[in-house]
Amino acid sequence: MVNRTAPTESKHAIVVGCGPAGALMALYLAKMNWLVSVFERHPHYGQRPHPKEGSTLPSRRSYNIVLTDRGLQALQQAEVKLPKDQHILLQGNVRHSSKGAKFSSQFSNAVSINRETLAQILVQAGYDRFPQQISYHFEHHLETINCEKQLVYFNTPTSRKEETFNLLVGADGVSSQVRGAMTEQLDEFSYQQNRDQMMFKVCQLGPASKLPDADENWGQCFHTWPSQQPTTLLAPPSPDHSLTGVLILPQIGDWTFEKLNTHQDVEKLFQDKFPDVFEGQSLPLPFVQDLLTQKAMYGGITTTCSTLHGGRNIVLIGDSAHSVWPSLGQGCNVALESCQVLATIMAQEKGDLATILHRYTTDRKPDVDAIGRLSEQGFGGNRRAATRLFFTKILALMLLNRILPSFFQKPALFQISNAKVRFSEIERLMQIQNRQVSLITWSLLAIVLGIFGFTLAGIG
Ligand SMILES: Cc1cc2nc3c(=O)[nH]c(=O)nc-3n(C[C@H](O)[C@H](O)[C@H](O)COP(=O)(O)OP(=O)(O)OC[C@H]3O[C@@H](n4cnc5c(N)ncnc54)[C@H](O)[C@@H]3O)c2cc1C
Repeated sequence: MVNRTAPTESKHAIVVGCGPAGALMALYLAKMNWLVSVFERHPHYGQRPHPKEGSTLPSRRSYNIVLTDRGLQALQQAEVKLPKDQHILLQGNVRHSSKGAKFSSQFSNAVSINRETLAQILVQAGYDRFPQQISYHFEHHLETINCEKQLVYFNTPTSRKEETFNLLVGADGVSSQVRGAMTEQLDEFSYQQNRDQMMFKVCQLGPASKLPDADENWGQCFHTWPSQQPTTLLAPPSPDHSLTGVLILPQIGDWTFEKLNTHQDVEKLFQDKFPDVFEGQSLPLPFVQDLLTQKAMYGGITTTCSTLHGGRNIVLIGDSAHSVWPSLGQGCNVALESCQVLATIMAQEKGDLATILHRYTTDRKPDVDAIGRLSEQGFGGNRRAATRLFFTKILALMLLNRILPSFFQKPALFQISNAKVRFSEIERLMQIQNRQVSLITWSLLAIVLGIFGFTLAGIG
């Protein structure tokens, strides 16, 4: 439905970046009667036609993301419906290993959707519902900001533009230039980043039905090859039931992208690590060429900002504010949830913009900091030992919960997708559970040593 109330002149927001976070925040702002200008450096998602002309095909190298409750609720609150033919409602997870493939109901009811498609759906919603309020400007690359004078400068292929704002939303991703300018110009603002040691490339694995022993629902399942860590292949399905894979390799080790230079290298990697993907067949030439010519991207970076806002009217949202390692599959979910949190505060808070943004930092920072730290504890990086310890603890807690359910809760990490439980609460519960596991481990060790001591004394 078109919103016909005219926004006031003092409510002009500039959103830099039209990824999932920027595109969703634009909808929330328009719903609250802001006039919104969205600037994106890329042309219409990989040079495809204007969204109004009906293209929905993402580029070959755009990856699928898995949205769980947090992300889905944020979309729902903004009244965004994902078209049925552009996403997949997952039925479960298929874990592939040398022992075969195993189905579990994990991820059932989560949604697999291409990142570009998601952004495009959100842009389309803006065109349809708020044609007078939101304007989209593609091929506009943010050059710099003057925080004090509230000015933003963009470069287009043909010109340089200056814009003013009442609210500036930095949604320009993990390498955010908005955040960079805030660091340079605002005394009280700073940030830190921590990079894991993984790189990734996107690859099209073909129909899920072609995998050995494929079940008929495999085209609606999230496929993973976790046992080969740190070399990993993750493949959420696309609407046509084919699998878009993300091949993740460490920067140091037997298999790195630097060592992957020829057709034979790629064949060998798949034979060694993921033999069931192209079982017994040579790899398709376009698949290999695509992998060899693609630039490897950094896998995981956590971003921790001193505040999520700067000055009286600049705010960061999504990866620019709080990117996380992909280990828990939460980046986009957190990004969308932050839009919902900010919009809720804006709707509730009666104070001025500065008060609203301050409250956003106070309310949201403990949670985004917590998910950043949690993402660094799981797999990711060349930290095999830490990873094993992490999973051993989770397994120990599952066992304890099964044996003594009244004393031991299920691992708190299992709540990660539950939008009702804050990330900071999950982290707090995990710390308690870690202490419980340590206590039990030390107690068991003490008992074993005691028995051993008594036995030795008896022999003596
Ligand atoms: C391989 C992979 C798999 C992932 N899987 C999942 C998953 O399963 N679940 C999940 O929740 N998350 C997942 N994520 C994380 C998720 O993709 C990100 O967290 C999410 O895209 C963040 O959205 P964003 O809008 O904040 O940033 P981005 O998606 O990075 O969008 C930022 C936008 O800003 C634009 N921009 C940047 N600089 C400028 C500039 N100077 N001027 C103008 N525009 C600019 C960019 O072009 C881009 O469009 C995955 C990430 C990767 C890499």
